[in-house]
Amino acid sequence: MKRNSKQIKVGNVLVGGGAPITIQSMTTTNTEDIEATVKQIYALTVAGCEIIRSSAPTIAAAKALKEIKKEITIPIVADIHFDYRIAMEALHSGVDALRLNPGNIGNKENIIKVVTLAKEKNIPIRIGVNGGSLEKDLLKKYGSATPEAMVESALRHVRILENLDFYNTKLSLKASDIYRTVEAYRLIAKKVDYPLHLGVTEAGTLYNGTIKSAMGLGILLYDGIGDTIRVSLTADPIEEVKAGLAILKNLGLRKSGITFVSCPTCSRAEADVIEIATKVEEKLSDINKDIRVAVMGCIVNGPGEARDSDWAIVSNKDKASVYKSGKFLKSIPKITLINDFIELVKKD
Ligand code: SF4
Repeated sequence: MKRNSKQIKVGNVLVGGGAPITIQSMTTTNTEDIEATVKQIYALTVAGCEIIRSSAPTIAAAKALKEIKKEITIPIVADIHFDYRIAMEALHSGVDALRLNPGNIGNKENIIKVVTLAKEKNIPIRIGVNGGSLEKDLLKKYGSATPEAMVESALRHVRILENLDFYNTKLSLKASDIYRTVEAYRLIAKKVDYPLHLGVTEAGTLYNGTIKSAMGLGILLYDGIGDTIRVSLTADPIEEVKAGLAILKNLGLRKSGITFVSCPTCSRAEADVIEIATKVEEKLSDINKDIRVAVMGCIVNGPGEARDSDWAIVSNKDKASVYKSGKFLKSIPKITLINDFIELVKKD
């Protein structure tokens, strides 16, 4: 069952409170390079990114966010560490949210300045606890960055905001391994009702990072925990968005786009299933319809999967059978199979 969370608004995107789970990513460009950053955000938006975050390590970067914001269509979050002046500048630039830990941006007076301005502008703050940068006293108390230590850190920052009467908050508690990440989110989910931004931090390179994120986020989402997600990969951020979409799609939490099924192929295969499946998936990746497409190598499991699919290819000797909504539609020679099949699906 989905956890009940408070709803906040990041630009025009609702997060929490039953809103659809959104996909986030982060730019890898130098934020001061406005043109490159806008170009990357545009590509990410086309890929399906719904909230973007950019680092603002300098005042100049925070100022650049103003120009970037004018050119993009999705909400932008400024990622701030340590310096309240950069947070103030980002707010003046019109960002849609801040990612900062209030305990890390300066003395009380400066925290008040940032929180007051965020409140005036109705801008949410994401508290982002990271297992790799926990406060020293908590590391000492717990011995290491345990889930409990991460939760205590998050609650400290939450209380700072709440003591200033600020509740427009979202939380993340990321560790670089699945167990601590899952446990930390499960614990915090019981303690507060703020929306949760899920992620496994520093998950790794494309292959391992995607698997690790899919496992960590999958466990939590399956349990109803999580309101927005970021798959964090050492790769082109487009891959983060694609992985995020696949995670949501496979959990039935995202309806648009194709659910793709293909057999693992074996010695019975009557065609090069790997080639056909890869090409079909790639050529249909721009389709937003909620349909299931299957590519099967022979008649052993082919007709069964075809029955459950909107469209299916089942290979046999020199031709392939195409099924629509479980019923045989036609045979297509292998030579024109991929293009003919794509045309049929797209025309439908
Ligand atoms: S559908 Fe046929 S080719 Fe594909 S794995 Fe099963 S038996 Fe092998």
